[in-house]
Amino acid sequence: MTYVAAIDVGGTTMKGGLVARDGTILHLERRPTPRAEGPERVIAAISRFAADLSRPWDGSGTPSPVVEGARPVAVGLAVPGLVSPTHAVFSAAFGWRDVPAAAFADVDLPVALGHDVRSAGEAELAYGGGEAHVLYLPIGTGIAGAVVPSGALYGGAGGWAGQIGHVPVWPDGLACGCGQSGCLAAYASGSAVAARCGVPGAEDVVRLAAQGDARATAVWAEAVEALALALATYTLVLDPAAVVIGGGVSQAGDALVVPLRARLAARLAFRPAPDVRTSRLGPLAGLLGAALLGWTAQG
Ligand SMILES: [Zn+2]
Repeated sequence: MTYVAAIDVGGTTMKGGLVARDGTILHLERRPTPRAEGPERVIAAISRFAADLSRPWDGSGTPSPVVEGARPVAVGLAVPGLVSPTHAVFSAAFGWRDVPAAAFADVDLPVALGHDVRSAGEAELAYGGGEAHVLYLPIGTGIAGAVVPSGALYGGAGGWAGQIGHVPVWPDGLACGCGQSGCLAAYASGSAVAARCGVPGAEDVVRLAAQGDARATAVWAEAVEALALALATYTLVLDPAAVVIGGGVSQAGDALVVPLRARLAARLAFRPAPDVRTSRLGPLAGLLGAALLGWTAQG
């Protein structure tokens, strides 16, 4: 069986896997991202992960259809920030600049580097049963978007397209880590809703709101309203058929999409709202996207 090695580098966890052409994940492994230890340590950890996944399979990890002694044909790496095909150009979260792809994967296999959210968007297109005109919107520690205006991802003039998390939703609103104020992410990212309620994660806010906690209810409602505002703008400009929400906050399910559908529809007076749903690929979209990168390297 032919397969690629794939690594999806997140802010807290790296997912690595061996993935077949049809998207079947033959092997899956999670390792912590040593982000607090600085960019050099993160790069070294990714490189070690790539080397481990590129080794001939030793027959461990049963049941696995990977044949003992087999190797992947290529490596696909998905990382956050601004990414070119040859370099991780910049990431505020990791503090790196102009890291060449070879620094992440020093292996004797073809290596392809790509942007995490855009790669996950490619996986949604390939495996998620997605529409041709879609916005893929992972909501996790931050909020980004993969803009698919017509069956193919749009990166923009400088690769900055899809920064929906930093669309201003309220003038003079909360300060955002990016330097602007009133950004969507300051109200609706997983880290923002958790911090505003003083709890560890967005799932705690959802649980408290379901129990009738006033603060959690207000914070969650404001997050939904901020999303509705940003998505109304996006919808009016690009007319997507669907908005597909991924990332950790998508685990909220109906507690997110039911009120969001209603608020988005209420914000759009003269046109119907696009469908809003959670990703069918869930948290593995990034890994499958990294695998698609690997296939492009393999040719
Ligand atoms: Zn911002």
